[in-house]
Amino acid sequence: MLDVAPSIIEKSLKLMEEAVLCDKCLGRFFANLGFALNNETRGSSLKTIICMVSSELINKGRQQEAIEMLRILAKSGFKPARELLARNGLEVPEVLPCELCEGLLYEPLHQLTNKAINYLSAYDFNTYLVGCRVPGTIIEREDALRSCVEIEWGESIKREINREVGSIIMLKTGKKPDFQKPDVLVILDFHRMDVEVKPRPVFIYGRYRKLIRGIPQSKWFCPSCRGSGCPECNGTGKRYKFSVEELITKPMIERFEAHDAKFHGAGREDIDVRVLGSGRPFVIEVIEPKKRFINLEELQREINERSQGMVEVFNLSYTDRSTIGKLKLSAKAKRKTYRALIEIEDQLEKERIGALSDFFREVTIKQWTPRRVLHRRADKLRMKRVYEVEILDVKDKTFEVLIKCQGGLYVKELIHGDEGRTTPSFQEFLGAKLRVLELDVIDVED
Ligand SMILES: [Zn+2]
Ligand SMILES: [Zn+2]
Repeated sequence: MLDVAPSIIEKSLKLMEEAVLCDKCLGRFFANLGFALNNETRGSSLKTIICMVSSELINKGRQQEAIEMLRILAKSGFKPARELLARNGLEVPEVLPCELCEGLLYEPLHQLTNKAINYLSAYDFNTYLVGCRVPGTIIEREDALRSCVEIEWGESIKREINREVGSIIMLKTGKKPDFQKPDVLVILDFHRMDVEVKPRPVFIYGRYRKLIRGIPQSKWFCPSCRGSGCPECNGTGKRYKFSVEELITKPMIERFEAHDAKFHGAGREDIDVRVLGSGRPFVIEVIEPKKRFINLEELQREINERSQGMVEVFNLSYTDRSTIGKLKLSAKAKRKTYRALIEIEDQLEKERIGALSDFFREVTIKQWTPRRVLHRRADKLRMKRVYEVEILDVKDKTFEVLIKCQGGLYVKELIHGDEGRTTPSFQEFLGAKLRVLELDVIDVED
């Protein structure tokens, strides 16, 4: 035992010879020694022992050695050392600020901690994590001191700050720290002497129906001004007044008091295509929400009321980020069901139409990127399955079908063939010119 003790005391002295250290900064170099102790206690204990050793040196008549040690302690403001010097009629040196933390661990730390607790009161959260930014010069000094005394027990000043502030927040708010997925991240910035609160996004899964044609899925910026607002778009910056995205996210942003919200759909439909039946799955990523415990039934009701029959959402539930990836993947692979109303522009025997459902059963369609999207998509060949075509109704000049196919198939092109770029197609099979009058998404598999 006694062979270890001197090295701890020696290293403490060496550190204090190198720099004036407050109790917390000295103690931090020995942070891994002992539990249920804080660094301030560690530091003041080490200073106490050194002070006692000095006292014994004086008793033994080794004044000069004692004075040197006491002066080092006294400079850091250690009261017992100052007392001892004064009692022995020796000069008491001026107290200097800690050369490592520069006092940052005291008043500035308390100030920012109070600010953090104050800011946090505006947020909904169960768990939190504390981080901090401290001047690089402090980190450098700490590293230099550690290597000069070859110490292996210490922790960094950042860790000390995070831990200390974390436990004060726990005490004051009753919330719990979480190092994996905290609801809020609290960052103490000692450069700007300010606090940032960064809430983790909230993810909401749901399905939507688009009940009318003429609204795009996502917000379209005005092509003339690209969103800044111009006479052409009446200053709205948008090409269309409404979009599925905005109708769903606007009430969410308000309820969650969020900075923004991102819409992730399981595929998309054209502006003139409705989404009916069981609807299309989506995930909303609510960004920087101040509130995170919102009643989703009420939210659903509000979205549907405010959408006035244009869009309807249902099955809203809380989820996590991983659902977005699954949604995007499944959008390409899973089954979709469409209803189409098709106009026949040539003469055609009705029996041929009935044969569509025999031919388009488990068929692979070769489809080059449709001409209508070529300006924004690469021209490539895709192979997609049509599982089933059901004839619902045949009239003189029109017929209605249900198409079950793989996600990612362009259905309008399946019908009219896109000048041979999609094959086989209904038009090719029937040998008659076809036009899509109406298209609805009836079901998108999860
Ligand atoms: Zn310090
Ligand atoms: Zn515009």
